[in-house]
Amino acid sequence: MTRLHNFCAGPAAMPTAVLERAREEMLDYRGQGASVMEMSHRSPTFEAIAAQAEQDFRDLLAIPDNYRVLFMQGGATMQFACVPLNLLGPGGSPNYLDTGIWSGKAIKEAEHLDLANKHLNLANKHLAGPHIAGSTRGNGYVHVPRPDEIALSADAAYLHYCHNETIGGLAYDYVPQVDGANGEVPLVCDMSSSILSTPLDVSRYGVIYAGAQKNIGPAGITVVIVRDDLLERALPQTPSLLGWKVYADNDSMINTPPTYAWYLAGLVFQWLKHDIGGLNEMETINRRKCEALYAAIDTSDFYANPIDPVNRSIMNVPFTLADESLNSVFLSEAESAGLLNLKGHRSVGGMRASLYNAVSEADVQALITFMQDFERRRG
Ligand code: PMP
Repeated sequence: MTRLHNFCAGPAAMPTAVLERAREEMLDYRGQGASVMEMSHRSPTFEAIAAQAEQDFRDLLAIPDNYRVLFMQGGATMQFACVPLNLLGPGGSPNYLDTGIWSGKAIKEAEHLDLANKHLNLANKHLAGPHIAGSTRGNGYVHVPRPDEIALSADAAYLHYCHNETIGGLAYDYVPQVDGANGEVPLVCDMSSSILSTPLDVSRYGVIYAGAQKNIGPAGITVVIVRDDLLERALPQTPSLLGWKVYADNDSMINTPPTYAWYLAGLVFQWLKHDIGGLNEMETINRRKCEALYAAIDTSDFYANPIDPVNRSIMNVPFTLADESLNSVFLSEAESAGLLNLKGHRSVGGMRASLYNAVSEADVQALITFMQDFERRRG
């Protein structure tokens, strides 16, 4: 058996120790005579797995008691719709920061809801379409809006941003301030590709959400952290399965949850706590990984990364070759060397190495060695 160096943007590499543990417990979960995927989500055994996973997640991020943790399905994309549905009940306009493809998709979903509301001619006419409170589209999204470039609308119901643009390789180096004209505006953050990569001050946020398939576990589960006072703001037309409060009131078991993905996420949290030693240690390792790769890119004329250094992602490192005609040979030689999934997203081309938590320093070193060798031979 060989596990190769996997730089996939998602579904991403899982820690080998987690997969080994899952393999050991596959046929007979701790004397239950059945695998986790074959037991009722209402059984005491699964309820204990679910509760332990939530507790470990809370411990890792030091989540304050006045926040609920929800385990949902539908991916981060479903949350693009859940955010306006669950927060616009009292009226106002949804505010967004635009830093690339993923924040753009969240904005599109808020526009869609606005159009649907107008089409239905709903009574709540005080709803407004999304307000773009800051955007760096004009300069090709090579940095995020600076704090003084963010302008909330006077009626802001929330401010949404994407902490780490997975495709662009762009990340915030600060937490936006959200003092609106009428007091605090809840800050809502898509952390799909950066959650659990560093410690985090959850109390700065109203809502944080993340699809699992990068740093949490396999695809199929989505984690939402929501401050409990924000659970009462849903629009009346919110379908029950999209309503955060319904999940909060039912321990995320309103219907059958993705039990096996939940269990695997729990194993990943255990790995982070016990094998890695927590998020401070994880951050130290992650910084060493990305700094080594950025240094290799910056010290070469053959490779380039366009992002302003203060906003470079620690998780997703896009890079281009000076001679783009070498892209396909780079990828095929990389694959032969055991370096998988380095092709950039189809919308931007070039290469991208995703360095999520389960990607080791040895994986990154193998990539750097290959890149330097390729440049010597082809540059
Ligand atoms: N937001 C970000 C930042 C992402 O990276 C992704 C997936 N790559 C999504 C949202 C969409 O996630 P999903 O496919 O789980 O809906």
